Amino acid sequence: MFNATKDKALITTTTGALPRPNWYTENLRGAPLSTGFSRTAYREQHFDCLACHVAAQNKAGIDILVDGDARLDDDVAGRSWVSYAYERIEGMGPPQVAVQPYAAMADKGPGDYIWEVIETRLTPDVEGPIGATDLQLDRAWKAIAPMTDKPVKVGSISAQVISHMCNNEHYSDRYELLMALSEAFNAEYHALADAGAPLLQIEEPSIHQSMQVPNQEISAEQYVEAFNREVAGLRDKTEVWCHTCWGSRGAQKMFAADASYEKALPYLDQLDVDVITLEGASNNGLDFAHYGEIISKDKKIAVGVVSHRTLQIERPEEVADLIRRALEHIEPERLILSSDCGFGRQAMSRSHAFYKMISLVRGANIVRRELGLDEVYIPAADAGLSMVPMVDG
Ligand SMILES: [Zn+2]
Repeated sequence: MFNATKDKALITTTTGALPRPNWYTENLRGAPLSTGFSRTAYREQHFDCLACHVAAQNKAGIDILVDGDARLDDDVAGRSWVSYAYERIEGMGPPQVAVQPYAAMADKGPGDYIWEVIETRLTPDVEGPIGATDLQLDRAWKAIAPMTDKPVKVGSISAQVISHMCNNEHYSDRYELLMALSEAFNAEYHALADAGAPLLQIEEPSIHQSMQVPNQEISAEQYVEAFNREVAGLRDKTEVWCHTCWGSRGAQKMFAADASYEKALPYLDQLDVDVITLEGASNNGLDFAHYGEIISKDKKIAVGVVSHRTLQIERPEEVADLIRRALEHIEPERLILSSDCGFGRQAMSRSHAFYKMISLVRGANIVRRELGLDEVYIPAADAGLSMVPMVDG
């Protein structure tokens, strides 16, 4: 159901991951989030980190806040995006060195940055039937929700990515494993929705990426079926987003510069979600026409208008230009403005992420003004609050 974005045009958000403060040195290292929250040092650093993320997003004028993935450990290139999940699933063994280059990683070797990512993955074996998970996404949301009146989006890796990032020693095939994981993850999302989260985000169905790599074990139709099992029943309770991109480990694109969503869009459109997020900045609006043409009108589209892969902060005029081009194909009330992917995972500094968020909202305000929509106040761009006197002319 539309909830956080109901009846709103051109609202802004970012994908999820934000750069960790350097002083946030505590990590869970496999412990439940609740255990971390009961340790003084972890609790203080985690909650202070959330407060910093809220303040930065408020100063930038962002509409839908994210928690920055603050529960994830400080691992190489965002390893914890994956390991946070597989370290907390009944049926998975301990993480071990088991290099298993998958899909777009398969052509990488020593000397490539992505090889370092692969070497540090430490994937587990699936040792027995997949049972309960302990992701505690509801607890993650409850930690940040009292800090703001704005909706907060908590996101989590999909069962689809996890199904590739482990060694299947139990199920007869990978699709059977995927369905078991999808069912287990569904319970986590329901706990988050039942806690009152106004929206939630499931990250990376494997549809678009697997189409770039031949000879996959699982078909696009099967990915759709499994994803819809993963999100079953959720739209009755809250707004459901599905995030997609072309890679974010250390801000690296995992596919060709001209990789297109076109063939994947008819399948993505079958996902039982309210909002689909798609890249738009890094590929310079390559697929905007396809988004407008193929995605059904009952879904909203969150388009990336700032890149997580570049350190150069986009100028507001540049962001506005991309938004105008997206509007040629997508109605304003269906268009949400975001980043292509998260700013964390060793991508950039906190300052880069902060100023990219400001540019995103300044660019949105330019277009809002043109369309007669209310502009959003951006405290960080308020000349009256500048510490240096502004000189006319
Ligand atoms: Zn992403």
